Amino acid sequence: MKVTLQNLTKVFPGRSKNNHADVVAVNDFSFEIADGELIGLLGPSGCGKSTALNLICGLQEPTSGSIFFDEDDVTNLPPEDRGVGLVFQNYALYPHLTAMQNILFPLQNIKGAERLSKADMQKRAHEVAALVQIDELLDRKPAELSGGQQQRVAIARALAKMPRILLLDEPLSNLDARLRLQTREEIRRIQRETRITTVFVTHDQEEAMSISDTIVVMRSGVVEQIGKPQDVYDNPMNLFVATFLGTPPINVFSGEISGGKLLIGKEALFETNGFPDREVYVGIRPEGFIPDGNGPLHLNLRNIEVMGRDVTVVSTHGASVNPVIRSIISADSSIDVSATEVSFSVKRAKVFVFDKDTEARII
Ligand code: ATP
Repeated sequence: MKVTLQNLTKVFPGRSKNNHADVVAVNDFSFEIADGELIGLLGPSGCGKSTALNLICGLQEPTSGSIFFDEDDVTNLPPEDRGVGLVFQNYALYPHLTAMQNILFPLQNIKGAERLSKADMQKRAHEVAALVQIDELLDRKPAELSGGQQQRVAIARALAKMPRILLLDEPLSNLDARLRLQTREEIRRIQRETRITTVFVTHDQEEAMSISDTIVVMRSGVVEQIGKPQDVYDNPMNLFVATFLGTPPINVFSGEISGGKLLIGKEALFETNGFPDREVYVGIRPEGFIPDGNGPLHLNLRNIEVMGRDVTVVSTHGASVNPVIRSIISADSSIDVSATEVSFSVKRAKVFVFDKDTEARII
């Protein structure tokens, strides 16, 4: 099922006494989710991710714009007629029902011609339970299941109705780090097996990057960039997207283009032929530094963190926007830990230059 959002906007009227301003939670969204794709909606808290999801499933009505499932305009359809499966952060399983009864529940509520026979309901429930690998746990009540198992029951329940679209809103937030990783791989596997078009909402860039075919990076209700995770990481369109993706985050310096060179302080990183002089921000990914005694970038060495395969060099520089600069280099590189200064050259493809006023990427 292909999903198309066309100029979708949701405005919440300002209600509080002190603040009458309307909130534009989703501002003119236009993009397409291809059939069978897993799309990650990514952005900081309050950027409108959940609102976008609620509009797709019909829990909220858009202020303007349209939503299509394939060629059908579903903008005015109630949620129950859209054929979407929903999984939220708090799994909202019925505590007094067993896992099996929880999975059966939505099937038992199907009315009319689509209602399954009891035997078919049982069969379907067992199929989805097998898919999410909880077949052994079907007699247990939610309180007798771990967080990850409860989440799988919630996913099985959403899948039981054979939704045309699966919507997942921060489904891993309540899990510990290890379980998060495991469950995210599970979700990817289940999605690949079922080929259900899926929208996955998260504020965690690593999670979105690792699980999605396509990511939509949002800020304040606006889509900042859409693309394959690696493409967006390698080619951010502005400073916000560059800083939002990547751990450790990109290092940002104040700099300038002057006389055909990109300068950080007095140090020229590379030639910028053709670009007029102006003030810029220079972003250098942590993996973009090459230890080089003759390199143009001289940083004040703070300390070195040994990570096993890699080493993180922590340093400072007067032009750095962040308190420290993190450079990740191979553990084989020899850095004099007692030195006060460390010199680097940079990998050209890991350096991005942004206009200081608009923060749009220019190089
Ligand atoms: P989080 O990651 O914190 O859940 P989010 O990106 O999902 O955030 P939304 O919940 O979509 O963000 O909220 C987007 C904006 O709309 C926020 O400024 C929020 O305060 C506002 N908002 C959301 N729901 C309502 C509502 N029912 N009434 C008024 N404002 C709302």
